[in-house]
Amino acid sequence: MRMRKKKHGAERLQACGEYVLDGGLCDPKSVFENGRPVHLEIGCGKGDFICGMAAAEPDINFIAIERIPDVLTIAAEKVKAAGYGNVRLAAFNAAYLAERIAPHSISRIYLNFSDPWPKDRHAKRRLPSRQFLERYDQILKKDGIIEFKTDNRGLFDFAVEEIAETKWKIDAVTYDLHHDEKMMEGNVMTEYEERFSSQGNPICKYVISR
Ligand code: SAH
Repeated sequence: MRMRKKKHGAERLQACGEYVLDGGLCDPKSVFENGRPVHLEIGCGKGDFICGMAAAEPDINFIAIERIPDVLTIAAEKVKAAGYGNVRLAAFNAAYLAERIAPHSISRIYLNFSDPWPKDRHAKRRLPSRQFLERYDQILKKDGIIEFKTDNRGLFDFAVEEIAETKWKIDAVTYDLHHDEKMMEGNVMTEYEERFSSQGNPICKYVISR
C-alpha cells in the first residue's frame, strides 16, 4: 500500500495511547488480562477488518500488525475512535514476529490480501510462504489456525503448494468465497476484499492447521 509520508505521523500514532503496543516482546496475557483467545491480523492495512472483527466478536482479543507506520496510524485512529478495548495494534514487519509476540500465545492468524511479491526470488517474502509459516509456528498455540484470503490466484496457488512442503494441512479451501455459504459464515470484508470483489474478482480462502 503506497502512501505519501504523513506529517506528524509518529505523534498521531502516539496519540492512540494504549491501543498501540510498545516495541519489545508482547505477552498478550499481560496486555489483555482477561484470559480470552487472541487473534492476530498480519498486514492490517487501514483496519476495516480488525474493526469489523472486534465489533462482531467482543469476547476475542485482537492484535493487528502492519509494517508501514503511517498506514497503521489510520487503523489505530479508527480503533481508538470506536473505543474497541479488545484491540491492540503494532507497526512492525512480520519477519520479526518471534521477537515481538510471546511463543504459543496466539489462537488464530489472519492473512488478508497479502502482497504477492511476484518475482520468484522474492517468494520467501510472501506471507503464506514456508519461511513465514515457520514463524507462525512459533507464536501459534498447538491447535491454532491460519486463515488466508486473497483474490490473487497466483499467490493463492503458491500458498496451497507451500503446504505440501510443511507440517501444515488444509482444513478448508474455496476458490470463490462469496459463493461458498459455509465459509462465508461470519465473513468480515477487508478494504481490498470490498474493492476486488466489487470488480467481479472471486476471492480464494484457506484455513490451515498443523
Ligand atoms: N489487509 C488489508 C490490506 C492488504 S495490502 C486488506 O485486505 O485490505 C497488504 C498489507 O500488508 C499492506 O498494508 C502492507 O504494508 C502489509 N504488509 C505486507 N508485508 C508485511 C509484513 N511483512 N509485515 C507486516 N505487514 C505487511
